[in-house]
Amino acid sequence: MAYQQPALPYTENALEPHISANTIGFHYGKHHATYVKNYNALVEGTAFDAMSIEEVILQTATDPSKIGIFNNGAQAWNHSFYWNCLTPNGGGEPSGEIAAKIAEDFGTIEKFKEEFKNAAVTQFGSGWAWLVLDNGTLKIAKTGNAQNPTTSGQTPLLCIDVWEHAYYLDYQNRRPDHAAALIENLINWQFVNDNYLAAK
Ligand code: MN
Repeated sequence: MAYQQPALPYTENALEPHISANTIGFHYGKHHATYVKNYNALVEGTAFDAMSIEEVILQTATDPSKIGIFNNGAQAWNHSFYWNCLTPNGGGEPSGEIAAKIAEDFGTIEKFKEEFKNAAVTQFGSGWAWLVLDNGTLKIAKTGNAQNPTTSGQTPLLCIDVWEHAYYLDYQNRRPDHAAALIENLINWQFVNDNYLAAK
């Protein structure tokens, strides 16, 4: 069964001025859509077609002969997750159980923000910065290209896309400014809290 690209959870201009409608138009409408299209074409007629995309990602992650399926499947999933990590009028301080857990595992929310931004800035080349739950502990992770923390046994709670296509139209080379703008203004803490409650 084909994987469906989820509808964008807001309008293309809803994240302005931090992410432009132009960027969202290309990122969601072209980049993400192409990963979904390529993934579906590659799994069609194979045993993977009957599996969830999450299962396909796990099963193809360490098989070099399935790298195309893995790359397109993981990028399809990562982007579906990413859109939900952002929301207009987001950012600020978390609430709910995730707030207490961040205080427990990072010390302060400011320390978390600093570590998360640092991961986004220091991921060399294309990839992702993540907040994950790893054996009951919150951790910051970064992954290259399409890589996804589930293949390391970690549960993703939040991510930022640091591929250049995510920010270059709006910020050119200024990835740190892009990361800071998302962290301060767009993080969907309700979504992060929901992911934490489901995973803990
Ligand atoms: Mn992307």
